[in-house]
Amino acid sequence: MELKYPEDEKEFREMVQNFLDSELTDELKEAGRKKTSVWQEPDSAASWQAVLYKKGWAAPDWPEEYGGTGWSARQRYIFSQECARYGTPGIAPMGLKMCGPMLIGHGTKEQKDYYLPKILSGEHIWCQGYSEPGSGSDLASLKTSAVSDGDDYIVNGTKIWTSHAQHSNMIFALVRTSNEGRVQQGISFLLIDMETTGIEIKPIINLEGSHELNQVWFNDVRVPKANRVGKENNGWSVAKYLLEFERFSMASVELRRLLNRAKNLAKETQSDGKKLAEDSAFRSKIDSLEIKALAIEMSENRALSSIESGGSPGSISSVLSAIGAETLQIADELGLELAAYYGLPKQPKALEVGHHQFVGPEGYLPLTPSFLNNRMRTIAGGSSEIQRNIIAKTILGL
Ligand SMILES: Cc1cc2nc3c(=O)[nH]c(=O)nc-3n(C[C@H](O)[C@H](O)[C@H](O)COP(=O)(O)OP(=O)(O)OC[C@H]3O[C@@H](n4cnc5c(N)ncnc54)[C@H](O)[C@@H]3O)c2cc1C
Repeated sequence: MELKYPEDEKEFREMVQNFLDSELTDELKEAGRKKTSVWQEPDSAASWQAVLYKKGWAAPDWPEEYGGTGWSARQRYIFSQECARYGTPGIAPMGLKMCGPMLIGHGTKEQKDYYLPKILSGEHIWCQGYSEPGSGSDLASLKTSAVSDGDDYIVNGTKIWTSHAQHSNMIFALVRTSNEGRVQQGISFLLIDMETTGIEIKPIINLEGSHELNQVWFNDVRVPKANRVGKENNGWSVAKYLLEFERFSMASVELRRLLNRAKNLAKETQSDGKKLAEDSAFRSKIDSLEIKALAIEMSENRALSSIESGGSPGSISSVLSAIGAETLQIADELGLELAAYYGLPKQPKALEVGHHQFVGPEGYLPLTPSFLNNRMRTIAGGSSEIQRNIIAKTILGL
């Protein structure tokens, strides 16, 4: 099936292509090619965000009045598709994709005026303080406490799996402000400056051997009450709203990137004396992924229309999160099949921008790290099992 776009969408696509042709430097292209995780290495992410910010394109999903582009849902989609096709680097997602939309929906005017411009410009890099040891899927059981002290809260406790905390200067965190009633009713949502006295970060090394994750401790950390989003003890609804944006991750865009990479490599990879691109078993795997990517794209378009008409993505986020993550992992398995023995050497230095000495062709370098890192996709932001629980409850009414 081929989607036909109206003429003005073709013009829009060409405008995006012209921009990418002129702005993607060799370094940015190399950073995009070497991306092996949800997280882009911070320097390249910041450089790419600066280019987008200068053009006014850093937050296409935001309403125009807050610095968005004013594009239609389809135009935003085309932009993401072209970025994936050109292999742009990623940007730090937690400010632009999560905290920003959450503040637009739930923040006060003062919070929006202060934080949104800093998210757009990249001055504030955010991390997410939801999970705690023992409170992941069962997030509402969280224990980090915020006790009222005049105009401030005093925060004590610990958050875990905090991605890129070591590169962030702000954290949005869920804290317990009451032990009365249902656990969900005693949670508040705070915006905390990572420079505040009493915050300590310790690294956790992931499966692939990289430092992306952390545990963050709060020891008598003083946070102004003005940094609370929403009412006291009403943070659960703010948290859930933000999660809808987190789970609505446009998996098809990343899927297309992995698929294009696999297709290109299959043209160069020999197996049993012929190219994998000509092997019917391999091609059938690629075709099956193409069909899944199309189905995901259609569902994403439906969610985009809902956002465009002023809503949040809704429960379709959970469908996209589970199916998107599982399909991405299949694409990564295909990558491993392509890499074969080139996937064995561990070459972290070679994945840094500017390093050009490695074993095997460059195209195979990111395949094993990407496979290992993307194991997290069916866990982070709510595991596939939890997404299915949400689908059962909110969509199927079970
Ligand atoms: C790479 C990575 C990055 C992350 N980044 C962040 C971050 O930046 N900030 C943050 O706050 N958190 C982050 N997380 C945490 C993530 O959100 C949690 O790992 C996730 O919610 C699962 O919680 P858990 O690890 O405690 O596992 P558990 O909740 O202990 O789950 C263990 C297993 O039991 C299953 N399970 C649990 N409850 C149910 C149920 N009711 N029904 C069916 N199955 C169930 C789960 O699906 C899972 O398979 C990250 C996680 C990873 C892996």
